[in-house]
Amino acid sequence: MSEKTLPLRKCVACGQMLPKDQLFRIVKSDDGIKLDLSYKCMGRGAYICRDAKCIDLAVKKKSFNRSLRGPVSNEVIDSLYMELENGSR
Ligand SMILES: [Zn+2]
Repeated sequence: MSEKTLPLRKCVACGQMLPKDQLFRIVKSDDGIKLDLSYKCMGRGAYICRDAKCIDLAVKKKSFNRSLRGPVSNEVIDSLYMELENGSR
């Protein structure tokens, strides 16, 4: 295995630490909360596994609300599931 220096981030649902390219980033910026596929948006970020189980869990536990200090719209949640289906790797 090659050593990568990708920073580890914690999934808001299951609490696992993973390299950030294996997680989705949700960011709270001036224009609201959105999915950040570039990992580069300024603002407060929350990470979640690219796994429907974790997304379901985060919705149920409102994990994003706690991390981002604000509600996440259904639109953002939908876009997470959409990205999962698209299988962007
Ligand atoms: Zn997770």
